[in-house]
Amino acid sequence: MSETSQLLAAIAGTGRDAVRGGYSRPVFAPAERELLDWCCAELRRRGLEPETDRNGVVWAWWNPGGAPLTGAVVTGSHLDSVPGGGAFDGPLGVASALRAVDLLRQRGVEPARPLGLAVFPEEEGSRFGVACLGSRLLTGAISPERALALTDPDGNTFADVARAAGLDPAGFGRDDEALARIGQFVELHVEQGRGLVDLGAPVAVAGSILGHGRWRFTVHGQGNHAGTTLLEDRRDPLLAASRIVVAAREVAAGHPGTRATVGRFQPVPGGTNVIASRVDLWLDVRHAQDAVTAAVVAEVSRRAAELAAGEGCTVEVREESLSPTVEFDPALARRLRAVLPAAPLLPTGAGHDAGVLAAHVPTAMLFTRNPTGVSHSPEEHCTDEDAELGSVALADVLQDLLLSPA
Ligand SMILES: [Zn+2]
Repeated sequence: MSETSQLLAAIAGTGRDAVRGGYSRPVFAPAERELLDWCCAELRRRGLEPETDRNGVVWAWWNPGGAPLTGAVVTGSHLDSVPGGGAFDGPLGVASALRAVDLLRQRGVEPARPLGLAVFPEEEGSRFGVACLGSRLLTGAISPERALALTDPDGNTFADVARAAGLDPAGFGRDDEALARIGQFVELHVEQGRGLVDLGAPVAVAGSILGHGRWRFTVHGQGNHAGTTLLEDRRDPLLAASRIVVAAREVAAGHPGTRATVGRFQPVPGGTNVIASRVDLWLDVRHAQDAVTAAVVAEVSRRAAELAAGEGCTVEVREESLSPTVEFDPALARRLRAVLPAAPLLPTGAGHDAGVLAAHVPTAMLFTRNPTGVSHSPEEHCTDEDAELGSVALADVLQDLLLSPA
């Protein structure tokens, strides 16, 4: 087994989801914290001392020359997962970063500037609803007031959960000092599609991230008895919500290149013999052109209002997050491709902390081949050989960056 796979093997038993399959590692919950402990232990084994900043981002610095922590090369990813996610989304980037440090040291590389390793909290947004929450707080893309008021499915606020994890809610917010430490950021991630399978290559350089957003639709009706309420007397929000799901697909199909998904749908109270009083559903929309994303959401919202009214219900639509299309730094992408001439340039439909950081510092990503093309699912995969090839590619890129001044 390759060194990269050995690192991942140490966490293969943590956060397994017996119901959904795969892994459920929500941020600040025990499984994610165990992974963070593993990461910190691996950092310390390499003589790198982890520190948590005021937004909950964990950093460690390899800085043999004692250079000032500014304009550093930084790599890293996240350790939280979606419910029932795969083994590689997030942890592969962290394991590859650790492995890259080992490779650089074996090669005798003496960095001309510091190398930082970073782990971002709540990248998936699977607990508090906003993806890349850690990097958004760090960069000021979300206000601390809004972030702290976010709630998880059990009704706990982000403020309370963060406090329980040892963070001070008063410290959250844009951190210019932390940002100034980053000269270039490079995130390695398992590919979340089948681009590399089709191209027959193990590693790609990212070109862009599709713009994407999440909207919460709340359909209000009247909760009532399933046996005594005549069909004509019902105001059933689940019926309206189901039609909204279908409408979202129809609207998306009318705008080529759009991806629209409802993956979460919650009737309240959710009893077999109860007509629901309310249904919450979440719409995820992505398109390369932000104007198309906006048009799709506007059209779905308009149809949702009609469909709800047709069932005697009402609907509220609330934007939970919105990230415009990100073009990664072209000069940095060119540089990565000069180091990795066999690596194709690939766009992605998945969001990443690198996409948030790209608005502030030169940022690049590497993707490692996923033979199933499936992600956010237990079927997500990366072969032993490709995992190691990804780490080697990351080390090659970091070496090139570290040996030149910022
Ligand atoms: Zn990820």
